[in-house]
Amino acid sequence: MNINKNYDLSKLNTFGIAAKAKFFVEVHNEAEFKELLDSTEFKNNQRLFLGGGSNVLFTKDFDGLVILNKLKGIEILKEDSESVVIKCLGGEIWHDLVVFAVERGLWGIENLSLIPGTVGAAPMQNIGAYGAELKNVIENVEAFDIATGEKKIFSKEECNFGYRDSVFKNKLKDKYFISAITLKLSKKEKKNLTYKVLTDHLESNNIEVKNSKHISDAVADIRRSKLPDPKVIGNAGSFFKNVFITAAELNKLQKKYPDAPFFKEEDEVVKIPAAWLIEKAGWKGKKVGNTGVHDKQALVLVNHGGAEGEEILALANRIISDVKEKFGLTLVPEVNLI
Ligand SMILES: Cc1cc2nc3c(=O)[nH]c(=O)nc-3n(C[C@H](O)[C@H](O)[C@H](O)COP(=O)(O)OP(=O)(O)OC[C@H]3O[C@@H](n4cnc5c(N)ncnc54)[C@H](O)[C@@H]3O)c2cc1C
Repeated sequence: MNINKNYDLSKLNTFGIAAKAKFFVEVHNEAEFKELLDSTEFKNNQRLFLGGGSNVLFTKDFDGLVILNKLKGIEILKEDSESVVIKCLGGEIWHDLVVFAVERGLWGIENLSLIPGTVGAAPMQNIGAYGAELKNVIENVEAFDIATGEKKIFSKEECNFGYRDSVFKNKLKDKYFISAITLKLSKKEKKNLTYKVLTDHLESNNIEVKNSKHISDAVADIRRSKLPDPKVIGNAGSFFKNVFITAAELNKLQKKYPDAPFFKEEDEVVKIPAAWLIEKAGWKGKKVGNTGVHDKQALVLVNHGGAEGEEILALANRIISDVKEKFGLTLVPEVNLI
């Protein structure tokens, strides 16, 4: 185990922010993690667990220890005629797990194809896309308590999953290192075609869904056409979460903006797409210094090159204030601000 000092993180976050970590280490297995727990660098510093760095914004240098998750391994634990239970270690690339599943004809995570990042970070915000969420297939999450070094298995209920949310992002923030997840995937066909953009794509391309790979490929095609590739332009996907309001608040909004799109959720709650709020407020495609709002997807803030993390944060804060002023609604970042 090699602990580096003053480590450049620019290639380890998809925004491409040139922040530095006071200390940096890669962890390849549980034994290394246990060894790390005993090190003075771990004991005497704040720590940050990092996967693909695709959901973080470094607003300044990190004055502590960054721990890069490199725990690798995918294993089928059990299977019957209906389903397969798979355990995957946290340092695996999420999309590699999707490929593992669709290659075996399994159903359940194909709609989550091509989401950047690692398996260990996926429960953090209960990754979701194209009508699916991780919580629909997860059995449990394995994590180390960093205060005691003990391993704990969190049941799905204990993870307290919500929209881009979990117990690990809230009550247990910075308290656990997620080392593995276990999923239950279906052998039986389980098409999730609830998302209109996906069904429109399948229809217009005359794709008949015969297996989960067909959905995976379609989702990948849509994503490639809509979302900026972080290798080309720095970004962390959706910067903000969608906004959830009450029916009374929707009424108020519609008086001023009759064209406001909305989606009815459970319990009388209504979802307003944050992308619409940002676009309507005039931010889509805007450039501010080295930062900007993507011209095809208003939810995505970008680093046009050489941006500091605090410049992107300043842009995010301007958008939040403007949306608040124009619509009375509060945008909340989905990206973890470090
Ligand atoms: C182009 C693009 C598109 C995206 N599309 C989507 C999408 O459709 N849906 C979606 O949900 N997300 C999306 N994202 C966001 C991102 O891909 C996910 O949130 C992903 O799960 C982050 O994984 P990561 O390994 O990069 O996490 P990181 O960015 O490395 O970490 C994210 C957070 O999790 C913590 N963390 C990471 N690993 C661990 C661990 N093992 N234990 C404890 N804490 C940990 C970190 O400290 C940090 O707070 C997108 C991002 C990009 C760049």
